[in-house]
Amino acid sequence: MKKFLLTCMIIFSGLLAFNYSQACAEENSGLELNVVKKFLPWTEKRERLTREYAELHYGKSVTEIEPRAVVIHWTAGPTWESAYYTFYGETRNTGDGSVNVSSQFLADRDGTIYQLMPENKLARHVIGYNWCAVGIENVGGVNNAENLTPEQLKSNIEIIRSLRKKYPEIKYIFGHYQQNAARASGLYIEKVPGYYSVKSDPGKKFMRALKDELEDEGFIFFRI
Ligand SMILES: [Zn+2]
Repeated sequence: MKKFLLTCMIIFSGLLAFNYSQACAEENSGLELNVVKKFLPWTEKRERLTREYAELHYGKSVTEIEPRAVVIHWTAGPTWESAYYTFYGETRNTGDGSVNVSSQFLADRDGTIYQLMPENKLARHVIGYNWCAVGIENVGGVNNAENLTPEQLKSNIEIIRSLRKKYPEIKYIFGHYQQNAARASGLYIEKVPGYYSVKSDPGKKFMRALKDELEDEGFIFFRI
């Protein structure tokens, strides 16, 4: 009987957690986009560490962003799960703020879009721009192979178009490797001297293809 009760309690709390994440997802939706909602746990700790990161790097005590740009990445890993579980925990041991890395969207190789957090929550994915940039991670790029798929290209385009419908202020689209060129946008803020890392994702080929599809729609791209 005890065992039965315990099982019931576990199932019940599981249902509660499920309903909670669904409710959050609905609240923060409003994007015309087909996604699988796989929200990372937005705990009090994640909220606090995110706020600390924003304060340290941007001088802004916030956990929500002012969407102005979309930054494209690859995961350099083989599966969506490997990226998801890399982002899952709240902390990361570095000297530059301990909130873990993450991204608002994750596109699998077959084009499936996972939404990992509300698009207006601050994710740590690109130095200097997290206060204003929505991140799209794409599964692939292991050993720097430029192997993102046509399905991922289509998904990235859909995400970008739907984001701009909701946030007309979004103008800039750049790949992580274009982080220096993107300073021309005037959006770059970094309060910690020397905080920087060299990037190659998501490769020139993918950015060229995105640019070809979206430049005529008024988005601003940088030198590929
Ligand atoms: Zn990246």
